[in-house]
Amino acid sequence: MAFLLEGKNALIMGVANRWSLAYAIAEAFRREGALLTLTYQGERQRQTVEALADELGAARVLSCDVTQAGDLERLGRALAQDGRPLDAVVHSIAYAQREDLTRPFLETSEDGFLLAHRISAYSLVALSRIAAPLMTRGGSITTLSYLGAARVVPNYNVMGVAKAALEACMRYLAAELGSRGIRLNAISAGPIKTASARAIKDFSAVLDAVAERAPLRRNAEPGEVADAAVFLASDLGRGVTGNILFVDAGFQIMGL
Ligand code: NAD
Repeated sequence: MAFLLEGKNALIMGVANRWSLAYAIAEAFRREGALLTLTYQGERQRQTVEALADELGAARVLSCDVTQAGDLERLGRALAQDGRPLDAVVHSIAYAQREDLTRPFLETSEDGFLLAHRISAYSLVALSRIAAPLMTRGGSITTLSYLGAARVVPNYNVMGVAKAALEACMRYLAAELGSRGIRLNAISAGPIKTASARAIKDFSAVLDAVAERAPLRRNAEPGEVADAAVFLASDLGRGVTGNILFVDAGFQIMGL
């Protein structure tokens, strides 16, 4: 069988460790023949991500903290130097202050609100702006969202509001970039134990609720999210843009 991403150049942002959804996506992209560029958030992550990139056979690892002035532009310049078109981008980045994921939503500070939106939603716009000119043969930009964008999930709080903004950004970008053959989509993943997820108070209760009530009677797995990301980045997904693809063992269809 042909590899689904053979000959495609992919940028994957958001690998922090082996449990990151971006790591599972990078593994699946490699399996399907993509040439990978990974980014890490800053010096603290460099060694870990370089070691993981080595294991994955990634072509390159670059530093990019989306809150640092000039980092995204530097990333864009480094990718442009290749002279190769960029075909697929994965945005797997989010952050909210821990206290905003534990105290009542009513207590969200202005700073906490803005920081969550800057890192988790605006960064998709800024990233798309540097990626689009490099996607000269069209391509796909995929971000990671969660049900908390549309429904109230206990303790998800400001991150739910930021995910709603992220999903809206994805749709506006899809509308603008479609004429250039660039597709944008979000994967709404079910809850999965990662470093970010652990910051949410009582996260294990969310895992239990999904395992009990989802049609598949279990939680989604990183490899399932990754395979959906492969589909969206591949030519199989060529007619899909502006979409939210739920990879959540079906949980979102349930009422009670
Ligand atoms: P993770 O902690 O492994 O990944 C989050 C990533 O965001 C890390 O790599 C971190 O370095 C990066 N990041 C944070 N601030 C950044 C900044 N300023 N600049 C650059 N990178 C920054 O956790 P994860 O669960 O793999 O999260 C990846 C994405 O998946 C997030 O958008 C998250 O909201 C989403 N998601 C996760 C779940 C889940 O249950 N784990 C469910 C649905 C959606």
